[in-house]
Amino acid sequence: MKGFAMLGINKVGWIEKDYQKAGSYDAIVRPLAVSPCTSDIHTVFEGAIGDRHDMILGHEAVGVVVEVGSEVKEFKPGDRVVVPAITPDWRSLEVQAGFHQHSNGMLAGWKFSNFKDGVFAEYFHVNDADMNLALLPDEISLESAVMITDMMTTGFHGAENAEIQMGSSVAVIGIGAVGLMSIAGAKLNGAGRIIGVGSRPVCVEAAKFYGANDIVNYRDGDIVKQIMDLTKGKGVDRVIMAGGGIETLAQAVEMVKPGGVVSNVNYHGTGDILPVPRLAWGCGMAHKKIVGGLCPGGRLRMEMLIDMVKYNRVDLSKLVTHVFDGFENIEQALLLMKDKPKDLIKPVVIIER
Ligand code: NAD
Ligand code: ZN
Repeated sequence: MKGFAMLGINKVGWIEKDYQKAGSYDAIVRPLAVSPCTSDIHTVFEGAIGDRHDMILGHEAVGVVVEVGSEVKEFKPGDRVVVPAITPDWRSLEVQAGFHQHSNGMLAGWKFSNFKDGVFAEYFHVNDADMNLALLPDEISLESAVMITDMMTTGFHGAENAEIQMGSSVAVIGIGAVGLMSIAGAKLNGAGRIIGVGSRPVCVEAAKFYGANDIVNYRDGDIVKQIMDLTKGKGVDRVIMAGGGIETLAQAVEMVKPGGVVSNVNYHGTGDILPVPRLAWGCGMAHKKIVGGLCPGGRLRMEMLIDMVKYNRVDLSKLVTHVFDGFENIEQALLLMKDKPKDLIKPVVIIER
């Protein structure tokens, strides 16, 4: 089969490869729609998780089941499914500890385009189909469904880890698709004032749609100062990091109040150390909690998020700004994600309606 792959750091291209055979609990899925992720860009063009050779990219897909193993009970060929970016080994100690994202090793629940071939292929393999697939309801478009697999679960996880309380003030740094979903998640969790930090007009407009009350443009100067000015020097109760660079953690620690939470879902692709400012962290005694998390995956998470879309708690359509028709456009969509033109939030490639 054909797939679009990372050939090595900074190198991508089409390759021919066999797909992994389905074991007795697994499924083979043919993608109907896929989307490139900023994480694919970190992985390929920054070499952020090390070198990979001829590894098919992509971890955001909805598809149709073409084959299931003998022990798969809940899915059959022909089922249309949402495939989470994170497909853990559910029989692992980390799952018992409550962190399925790290089943059998740190970040190892993230398999597609990390430890195994991803979804930018004519077919792809899903481990433990009964635990990792979710049925796609007819009411949800392919474009929105593919946003559930990673953008929605990640952005919402940023809000979950931020432990937002009714009325908490929240700053969301980075308002690409993930940050936009963090804004939506913060609003659903009862945030009071929400401040989005970003610059591209298309993202600013979407941030307001999802619930941002104020926008701080990081191109207009120091974001800590801007947020302190907006909050009369008090800072915010919660910060969600969904973008930015090596300096962003320090900024987040500075702008969060004592007792606050800094919740990171950004994939830090460069640098060895993320500095934390000693004084702003109360010399280590400010009760400022720093947490970072990989998005939850698996079937139950997908089913719960699918319900939120199906029952109109959140409208994912605003995330998708570019739609391509045809498998061969995966390459163009990935490069678009790399170049990030001003009018882009997320591209989706429709392979088959
Ligand atoms: P994106 O590039 O569309 O959005 C990030 C935004 O941050 C951009 O709009 C950019 O302009 C902005 N930005 C850059 N520098 C900034 C600064 N100094 N201050 C504020 N904003 C700044 O990316 P995305 O698709 O929304 O993803 C966001 C991050 O989340 C990426 O690093 C991605 O790899 C990561 N991610 C993590 C997970 C996870 O499970 N934790 C899952 C998916 C994506
Ligand atoms: Zn991703």
